[in-house]
Amino acid sequence: MPSRFISIYCSQCEAFILRYRKEGSGALIRIYLNRIQAPEHFQQYKHATGKSELPSLDCLQCKQRVGTPMIHDTGNRPAYRLIKGSFRKREE
Ligand SMILES: [Zn+2]
Repeated sequence: MPSRFISIYCSQCEAFILRYRKEGSGALIRIYLNRIQAPEHFQQYKHATGKSELPSLDCLQCKQRVGTPMIHDTGNRPAYRLIKGSFRKREE
């Protein structure tokens, strides 16, 4: 399956949030921790088994909430459910 890189920016202040390796086409609704390329600190949560272990996904600059932690039930994959309208994405 082809993958592509998508960078996400805050819709409110344009600050960089994260860079993600997306597989397949379709809307970006959920992002999995193990596919976040940057910032690197997300890597330490990729084996989390409970959503309370994940930090909230907020814009570091203006503090807008961008995603809510979740554990995707197929395969226990830690992820963030993105909040519609809180981010802009750019393919690169
Ligand atoms: Zn912001």
